[in-house]
Amino acid sequence: MVCPVCGTTEAQVWKEPGRNAIDCTECGHYTISGSVLAVRDANGYKFDVEQTRAWLDGRRKFQDPPLITTQSVCWAA
Ligand SMILES: [Zn+2]
Repeated sequence: MVCPVCGTTEAQVWKEPGRNAIDCTECGHYTISGSVLAVRDANGYKFDVEQTRAWLDGRRKFQDPPLITTQSVCWAA
C-alpha cells in the first residue's frame, strides 16, 4: 500500500482497530487514526508532506511511533 502521508512510496501497513500503523522508508514509522483517513477521503484533502515529516520527527522524542490524529494532522493548504 502507498504511504498515506507522502502518497508516493510503497509502505508496510498494519491495520489495527481504529488506526493504521505504517512504516514508510521516506516518512518513517508512524500510526494514523482512522478518523484522519475518513476526513481525508470525505474532503479530498492531502497531507502537507514536509510539515507532517517535521512533526513526526519532533514527536518521536515523546511518542514512538507518533500517532497522527485529527488534532495533529497537517493538511496541505
Ligand atoms: Zn511516506
